[in-house]
Amino acid sequence: MPSVNFLCLQCEKRLARDAGEVSRPCDFCGVANSVVAPAEDSIIDRCAACGHEELYFQKDFNRRTGIALVVAGSIFVPWTYGLSLLGVTILDYIVWRIVKDVIVCYECQAVHRGYAPNPRLKPFDLVIHDRHVYGAAPPGAEEGHSS
Ligand SMILES: [Zn+2]
Ligand SMILES: [Zn+2]
Repeated sequence: MPSVNFLCLQCEKRLARDAGEVSRPCDFCGVANSVVAPAEDSIIDRCAACGHEELYFQKDFNRRTGIALVVAGSIFVPWTYGLSLLGVTILDYIVWRIVKDVIVCYECQAVHRGYAPNPRLKPFDLVIHDRHVYGAAPPGAEEGHSS
């Protein structure tokens, strides 16, 4: 089930909407929002929370995944003794297969989870991130402005 995680504009608590759910006010402070998760087969090309068009994708590497990896790693240890490099490679491959990408908004950090990858999107870019955090075109931050 695809979902969107976003922050309430008022109380900044994390809210989640599943695809197919209608919008509803903030679960914590009651401030209205119109955020709905796009349908399951949508290609995400703009933020579902704020409408912003600059998005990036990253591995959905949350705490639960991290714990699962530690467990998986300790299971593999007896068999990878002396073959640790191979073990890491296998683990790497497994992680790559089980950890899906999420699509994140540069503007409001909303997370779109469970949607098909959008080939137009690129991984996280610090320059674009800084532009959103520090305002438009900070001196020296844009490519090609080295002076
Ligand atoms: Zn709120
Ligand atoms: Zn956004």
